[in-house]
Amino acid sequence: MACLVVKAGGRSVFPEWKALFAELMPQLDVRDWYDSALDPTEVTYALVWEPDAGRLAQMPHLKAVLSVAVGVDHITADPNRPRHVPIIRMGGAETAIQMADYVQWAVFSLLREAPRWHTGQQERQWTRRGMPQTRLSTETRVGVMGLGSLGGHVAQRLVQTGFQVSGWARHEKYIEGVTCHTGPEGLPAFLGECDTLVCLLPETAETRGIITYDVLAQLKKPSGFVNVGRGALVVEADLLRALQDETLHGAVLDVFSTEPLPETSPLWGQPGVLITPHVASEASRATRARYVVSVIQALEQGQDVPLRYDAERGY
Ligand code: NDP
Repeated sequence: MACLVVKAGGRSVFPEWKALFAELMPQLDVRDWYDSALDPTEVTYALVWEPDAGRLAQMPHLKAVLSVAVGVDHITADPNRPRHVPIIRMGGAETAIQMADYVQWAVFSLLREAPRWHTGQQERQWTRRGMPQTRLSTETRVGVMGLGSLGGHVAQRLVQTGFQVSGWARHEKYIEGVTCHTGPEGLPAFLGECDTLVCLLPETAETRGIITYDVLAQLKKPSGFVNVGRGALVVEADLLRALQDETLHGAVLDVFSTEPLPETSPLWGQPGVLITPHVASEASRATRARYVVSVIQALEQGQDVPLRYDAERGY
């Protein structure tokens, strides 16, 4: 019988996971990561967020590690993780739809200067200003960095909404209505045509620190920036500089190099910035549990599953 250990969302939510799995897959033996009586030799699957370093390596019969999130950097950060055990990313349509909803909101917020309206409201100021308020969605080109399971869906949604859309990935992509660029050689042309940049890349050795002042300065001026990928993709000091010298007119930021974003971060008070607490895409536990069950069932039947982390490419 498959045995799943769960560390996802804190100790108090384990009973909720257990109840969900009991309904979806009654034969699955579901255990709490924090249970001191847990025998690691019995575990065959682990559903985790930020597993304690070295703990997965103590589970000799582990067949797969399932990430409770789309990103897996919180698992690969463990230098002692068992390298032969596949890591499976969270999937499902709900994740992509939520991400597209968020990005659509963020892009419209920047188009209409919502961050400044928000500041004005807090200060009880009737703030009317600025050229960007007159720009139309149909005149605005949004660039999506990363055209994967989320980025591809986001790009399609932005096309449907009426924006002009460009995309950037490692490999060639054909997405209706999207002008696609690839690789480092395609980056300058991509950046140069965008009014708003949406970063939806995974964090890898190649992408860490990719958003520098130089990159932001290549966008059309003044431009907007949305980060929903990972905080480590952005050099935060460069982002601040670009906001301060009005290379960027605004930014919507959901992810940060340190989370929660420290109270002392200058980003909190930077005009033109909207901050959200890493909530861009949060599928419900029920949806995630359904996905986990589908993965375990496929693996138990010897089938492959699509969202498998590839250590060589880093995502
Ligand atoms: P995928 O792995 O499906 O896609 C990644 C995309 O990035 C691919 O298009 C890939 O190119 C591209 N890419 C990777 N490395 C490079 C590179 N060096 N240069 C150019 N393009 C590159 O990821 P998802 O779309 O599923 O998710 C993206 C990220 O979103 C996650 O890794 C996670 O960090 C973040 N995320 C954030 C959430 C939030 O709430 N804020 C929620 C969920 C995810 P190619 O297609 O050519 O391989």
